[in-house]
Amino acid sequence: MNNNILIRNAAAIMTGLPGSKARSSARDIRIESGVITEMGNGLPPLPDEEQLDASNCVIYPGWVNTHHHLFQSLLKGVPAGINLTLSPWLQAVPFSYRRGFDEKRLRIAVRIGLVELLRSGCTTVADHHYLFQPGQDFDAAAILFEEAHALGMRFMLLRGGATVTRKLEADEKLLQATETLDQMLSSVQATAKYFHQTTPMAMSKVAMAPTSVHVSLPKQELKEVARAARSMGLRLHSHMSESVAYIEHCREKFGCLPIEYLARNEWLGPDVWLAHLVHLSPEEIRMLGESRTGIAHCPQSNARLADGIAPAPALAKMGSPVTMGVDGAASNEAADMISELHFAWMLHRAQAGALSRARPEGLGEEGGDATTVEQIIHWASQSGAQMLGFEGVGHLSAGMAADLAVYALDDPRYFGLHDPAIGPIASGGRPHLKWVLCAGKVILEDDLPTGLDLERLGIQARAEVQALLVLQN
Ligand SMILES: [Zn+2]
Repeated sequence: MNNNILIRNAAAIMTGLPGSKARSSARDIRIESGVITEMGNGLPPLPDEEQLDASNCVIYPGWVNTHHHLFQSLLKGVPAGINLTLSPWLQAVPFSYRRGFDEKRLRIAVRIGLVELLRSGCTTVADHHYLFQPGQDFDAAAILFEEAHALGMRFMLLRGGATVTRKLEADEKLLQATETLDQMLSSVQATAKYFHQTTPMAMSKVAMAPTSVHVSLPKQELKEVARAARSMGLRLHSHMSESVAYIEHCREKFGCLPIEYLARNEWLGPDVWLAHLVHLSPEEIRMLGESRTGIAHCPQSNARLADGIAPAPALAKMGSPVTMGVDGAASNEAADMISELHFAWMLHRAQAGALSRARPEGLGEEGGDATTVEQIIHWASQSGAQMLGFEGVGHLSAGMAADLAVYALDDPRYFGLHDPAIGPIASGGRPHLKWVLCAGKVILEDDLPTGLDLERLGIQARAEVQALLVLQN
């Protein structure tokens, strides 16, 4: 395929923008050198253009996944953790298996997760990788970037890690060496120097992301880490308030709620986004909104681990950027953005309805507009890209990067739709992807990432799961 592409005759185009701009009236998209140059109807083909026929297809922006742990792609459905809540699950699955991730196994796990995402229309991935130890004999950051770029995807490393051992991993079998603060900061600095791009259409970015900041750093290091990140021009990320255990810990150790603890330590602001944020007081929601701190909303993982339901619509109303993440495969067996978004769309309506009360005590039936398809698409595209700092990426309009997915609604699941534009989110499932483009390059065609042997990857995955089981016993 050449650099100039004309996509024609789409049934509908969703832009990723909020409100009245969510739907485009255009049916054609012209792309030159990776950038959308024109959107309209009946655009005439130019002599040097490749034409893609999008008849009966809908076009969405490429998804932006703002929270993941790709290494966990070989830890799906581990029986020891399948019916556990967050804290015992952490011990039974991620902490228990993490030692098994050498260079080769990490690479295969990362590739599986990225391919799953790509096959759901995702083009930008932010991965919270926290397996960093002093003296590691391979560069995990380099592996992550290499694998993403080999598939043609944009990648942001959320550089995790800890300088203290948390109570849950103090058991001898789960113990892992921690970095000193100096080691962590100098490693982040070296990684950022090499990989962190600041251009609007960057392919690589880095964020400072201590794993769970209330337990990964001692109190006195929080401000130091936040200041170091900001001095390097890096954004801040961490897990926060995923379960009630976060509240228990912060009350006991710091005498306040988790978000208050972050506020006191310079960990709120428009350059900070936090994964989960399930358990929040009204005051914490207000603090997050006022400071424009974002959320990586991971509803499937939160449901699977029985954490609860994050108040994403309430956060959005208060001014917090809501973005979407699939979280690691050890707590969400579908690293599939469509599945995540379909779930989010329904979940908040269900929750609003569950809170409705009969008249005259309440307002009667309510909650039918608790989330709209357009809003969910915005959260998972433009909102995510802006939160991560990819300024030229995340929605479909002239001048933006050509990151997009063309869904063919050719499965009976989508037959009979009055409004095809909402099909992929409202009907769920995995729609047939005719093409995915990132930076104007076709990186997937007819559900297959270009240049990838899926069958071989499946064989490798099965072999690595067996090897992990041997290691574990
Ligand atoms: Zn996570």
